[in-house]
Amino acid sequence: MLEARNLVKIYKPKKGVPVRALDGISLKFPDKGMVFLLGKSGSGKSTLLNVLGGLDRCNEGEILIKGQSSKTFRQRHFDSYRNTYVGFIFQEYNILEEFSVGANIALALQLQGVKPMDDQINGILQEVDLTGYGNRKPNELSGGQKQRVAIARALVKNPKIIMADEPTGALDSATGRQILTTLKKLSSDKLVLVVSHDREFAEQYGDRIIELEDGRVIRDVERRAEKLPEESMVPIYNDDSVSLPKAYHLTEADRKAICDYIETMTAQGREPKFTIQGSIRESFQPTDQAAIQSSQDGYRLIKSRLPLKYAFKIGTSSLKHKKFRLVMTIFLSCIAFVLFGLADTLASYNYVTASVSSLADPSSQITYAAFEKQLGIRREGSDYVYWQYDRLTEEDYARIKEETGVTMYPVFSAAGQQESGINLDMGFAHNLAEITEYSNYYARGFSGYVEASEELLKDMGAKLVAGALPQNADELALSGFVLESFQKYGYRENYETEPVVIHSAEDMIGRILNLDGIDYTITGIVDTGIDYSRYESLKKSLSENEELTDQIVYMVLMKELRYSLNYSLSGLAMVSEGQITRINDLLLETQNFSQPFYISGEYYWQTLCSIGTLSQLEGLEVVWLDGQERTTLSENEIILSEEEYMYSIKSMEMEDTAYDFSAQHASENPDYSQILAMPMTIDRYQYPYDSYEARIVGIIPEGKDCRFSQVVCDSLLTTLSTAGKPVICQTIAAMPDSESGIRKIVEFSSREVTDQEGNSIAFNLMNLISYELDNLDEVFEVMRRIFLWVGVVFVVFASLLFSNFIATSVAYKKREIGILRAIGSRSNDVFRIFFAESFVIAMINFVLSLLGTTVICGAINYFIRYEAGILLTILNVGLRQVVLLFGVCLLVAAAASFLPVRKIAAKRPIDAIRNR
Ligand code: ADP
Ligand code: MG
Repeated sequence: MLEARNLVKIYKPKKGVPVRALDGISLKFPDKGMVFLLGKSGSGKSTLLNVLGGLDRCNEGEILIKGQSSKTFRQRHFDSYRNTYVGFIFQEYNILEEFSVGANIALALQLQGVKPMDDQINGILQEVDLTGYGNRKPNELSGGQKQRVAIARALVKNPKIIMADEPTGALDSATGRQILTTLKKLSSDKLVLVVSHDREFAEQYGDRIIELEDGRVIRDVERRAEKLPEESMVPIYNDDSVSLPKAYHLTEADRKAICDYIETMTAQGREPKFTIQGSIRESFQPTDQAAIQSSQDGYRLIKSRLPLKYAFKIGTSSLKHKKFRLVMTIFLSCIAFVLFGLADTLASYNYVTASVSSLADPSSQITYAAFEKQLGIRREGSDYVYWQYDRLTEEDYARIKEETGVTMYPVFSAAGQQESGINLDMGFAHNLAEITEYSNYYARGFSGYVEASEELLKDMGAKLVAGALPQNADELALSGFVLESFQKYGYRENYETEPVVIHSAEDMIGRILNLDGIDYTITGIVDTGIDYSRYESLKKSLSENEELTDQIVYMVLMKELRYSLNYSLSGLAMVSEGQITRINDLLLETQNFSQPFYISGEYYWQTLCSIGTLSQLEGLEVVWLDGQERTTLSENEIILSEEEYMYSIKSMEMEDTAYDFSAQHASENPDYSQILAMPMTIDRYQYPYDSYEARIVGIIPEGKDCRFSQVVCDSLLTTLSTAGKPVICQTIAAMPDSESGIRKIVEFSSREVTDQEGNSIAFNLMNLISYELDNLDEVFEVMRRIFLWVGVVFVVFASLLFSNFIATSVAYKKREIGILRAIGSRSNDVFRIFFAESFVIAMINFVLSLLGTTVICGAINYFIRYEAGILLTILNVGLRQVVLLFGVCLLVAAAASFLPVRKIAAKRPIDAIRNR
């Protein structure tokens, strides 16, 4: 089944002359029998065996396996050829030290895709006289035992050919004989090729001896048995024995020789020895290759497949030899992966997630959920949208309730404009006694009005601690927090009266508070359930904090408190149901109320002025610029108060001009009246931003105590006025307890929607966390991008570390790989081994770096929250990081093993095994 044709192998050393190790060898081997390759050292025996076994490749010629030429073979075909047909036995045993005897043997079976059975392994061990050695490790065995393990390994797959390269070279001669006897037994049904330089062994055991010299066959003989003719048979006298032909008649000379022999032996104290000669004599005759029977069919290769278990075992076996290196590699790449994990956590910063986890953290104590409305305005011809505060309509209010699933309560504020942030604008400071010390803790005003009901208190988790809820108009309840201001500073009804000390909540019941010009009687005190102890430090002034960090914390706390007061029940004046509309209308009537309009002209610009009608002037004197007195104003006519007007004109640096608003002067001074006749524009401050053209027709002279700065016609006032339409500046509710509830709210707030007119609107969730996160959004956007690249750089760094480690490991394992290749594994299996090794490291890395990332993120979050006092949870390690870290660890491991392993996998097995 095996044939060599014209094999030429030339070694070309880097220095020195090329060596023709095989110089045109052609041989045909029988299917069974023991063939010795004999020759001096360097004659090319090993080279020939390696080429025949597919461990090495020759430069010219071919081998034929069952008639199949190796000419078209690639490395993997040779691998499979060995795996299928050849069992190798080496001088240096080459068994895998990491595995038990049993496992070494089982591996050879595994590579053939056969599941090893214990019985089978034990049977093989018995065959090589190693019964009971299955669980021993190779280093507990003698050389002869190791070689027998190697034989067992070669045998177990029942190969057609066994190739042994000087199998007895490292053994004493008795052990060597045992090994050869075993091999001889095997040769009864397979081809056993033995390389040896021991002629005696070759002649004793060999069925055929092929002698090599300088890469050429110089002698090829086979053992032949001859039947000798009887007459030619004579006694043979050796030094220590006498051999006699069977049925031989002794001559006198023989008798004498035998007597002498016995005498000599007796004299030497030795036993005389006689043997009977057989009629068959064996001798070596030139081999008749033509007569060699060689099977030619049934060629089929089995691809090896190293089971993962073995791959892991071999792969990880070296880990314990390189502990320091391993620890360093893992340590450094872990740092890299942790940084990558952190970078990705930062990079995957998400507003909603960060908001939700920040808000859901109990220590945030954001128990209120308030919304303000923002209107996105797109100027014609521009894509830029700028966002501006707007009041909420009934629809907005309904929409918030519906989409967040939270019951919302409208808040009314008299302020024309309410921007995000601090807006305690409805003062009760006049009701407080003299404030001598400066503190940022105590409230001095309300942020708005809410209609209080039992239901509201229940929803908000608040409860009445004194008195009752307001039932009538002009009644008011206030929060425990507001009460604290009075407890601190004392109460007085107005600037004139003596202050009263307030001890308890009950002390405030029945007192009067003047808000926006309306007197309210306090009926109750409400505990809003919000804990303000966190803000104790604000009772001191900012300058009392010496450390910069304390000052920063102070500022943050201050802002936080303002948010809480502006957007929770704590800062609100609680009025009875139905009051908001009434207050709105009342305030429209009073001069204190600034209407949300502004008027502008070339020499005049004023925001938020109070506008009235001619009838509201109640007979105040008006100087008509054209001298014509009117009882009604037409659509585009306005009257300005001189005070307001002069102030504006003066601020335009026109004070040099002496203005005389008398009708006569106006008519006599055309330039002046021209200025006055300039068109003015009245704009509504709020959406829908209508503007109205107007012309000044009259002036209300200075000192007339006019409560309006402008007077317009009735119809325009109706258009501009918000009377009868309560304006909602925000809605408040209790923050849901559940994270999913919070998520719903945050998602709603981060969504842009469109109103009926098709304008972009957004409802902002009003608390410090949302505010800070809104502001940080851009910072994070930049950090995201930076950290993504930082992460990539670290991963590349980790890959380099890994490759280095694997490269060392490859060097270390070269020999093992060579052995595996020799017993039939393909380069694929080599990949498996190293990937197994990398995989183990990758998994250690994955676990450690995930742990590291989580711990560091936790620590950073903790630091931000508890040390810096900022209520944000920015770093959220989630499923994404787990999956990503896992993937990246694996990928890096795979990428790192690929190159070094490919290099070794492509090597010829013989080079690997010899560690070249
Ligand atoms: P043997 O096994 O009979 O002792 P080898 O087959 O090992 O001989 O070697 C045959 C010849 O080839 C020797 O001259 C040896 O020096 C040379 N040779 C063997 N392997 C190499 C090699 N890898 N590089 C260069 N020369 C080699
Ligand atoms: Mg050799």
